[in-house]
Amino acid sequence: MTNMNPSERNNAFKALVLDGKEAAFRELTTADLGDGDVLVRIEYSSLNYKDGLAITGKGKVVRKFPMVPGIDLAGEVIESSSADFTPGQKVVAVGQGLGETRWGGYSQFQRVPSSALNLIPKPLDTCRAMVIGTAGFTAMMSVLALEHAGIRPGEREIIVTGAAGGVGSVAVILLHQLGYKVAASTGRAEAHDYLKELGAQTIVDRETLAQKGSPLASERWAGGIDSVGGQTLANVIASTVSFGAVAACGLAGGSDLPLTVFPFILRNVSLLGVSSPLAPKTLRETAWSRLAHDLPSAILDKITQIEPMEKLAELAPEILAGKIRGRIAIRNW
Ligand code: NDP
Repeated sequence: MTNMNPSERNNAFKALVLDGKEAAFRELTTADLGDGDVLVRIEYSSLNYKDGLAITGKGKVVRKFPMVPGIDLAGEVIESSSADFTPGQKVVAVGQGLGETRWGGYSQFQRVPSSALNLIPKPLDTCRAMVIGTAGFTAMMSVLALEHAGIRPGEREIIVTGAAGGVGSVAVILLHQLGYKVAASTGRAEAHDYLKELGAQTIVDRETLAQKGSPLASERWAGGIDSVGGQTLANVIASTVSFGAVAACGLAGGSDLPLTVFPFILRNVSLLGVSSPLAPKTLRETAWSRLAHDLPSAILDKITQIEPMEKLAELAPEILAGKIRGRIAIRNW
């Protein structure tokens, strides 16, 4: 029954709609949805930092109103005029303008351009794909960037900042599973055991990285995955070994970068930019296939929280306040 095309039943379905002033659940039909050659029955979406900004009206995430927010979605193809997808297939989309320039994941159905979709590789399912979501996908892109820069598992640790958050938790798991030694930086004392369970061997207090440091500190890290930015990123770069590399993917602690060129010109350190929303299809295929292979389900379950769409308004300020541990998948039905 639930898999029926809503247009065949002329049934309304539920979506969260932002009108520029408030976020409210509305009843929509497929006639209300925008263009897109694939109609998806969304089973799960997810909560990311950016979604927190959109729902609370902070930042400039939403570019037009009315908007159905939610930068991620996963579900079943119901209708498709694309040769790439057929009804019944399980698909995922992360970023690609969802919830920013086109209607996104906090809806029970959505029309999505086939160019934004990927098939979900086994053993992942729609729920686990959304536990990963943009945050986990970004962690994978960061790992791919480090690999591309020639950073291999060795004696020196890779540091992950914002480690108890979404990007950080998945990054810690992935690096550990791939044989890297991992140092996890967190501001939450209660997250130490959690991070060790995910694979961190060393815990670094967030405060020690937030203080102004030397432009060229003693060499400590083989590399880093940073979701914090600001002084933290500057300190990580300044403590990275010669020919090391740091993937910069976030700004939870600030968007400035108080650096000198010394780590680059005296140590050959590389700073690698990571931006997931515009990742092209082939890179997305590589990243999803690696996530399916490298992330054991049992460990993914340790970072998983599943919540209904109705709790989004309550959860949005919490993710902005850095209070969410791991990842939240949103159940759309
Ligand atoms: P979360 O809120 O889940 O995690 C962020 C973590 O950063 C927190 O858990 C906390 O970790 C740490 N943190 C929060 N505030 C501060 C602060 N003031 N100073 C230092 N550390 C802080 O968010 P996500 O993991 O989903 O996203 C992290 C960042 O990455 C965000 O800035 C987001 O915009 C960005 N991002 C970028 C993407 C890209 O494509 N480039 C894609 C996805 C996210 P702890 O408690 O362990 O200290």
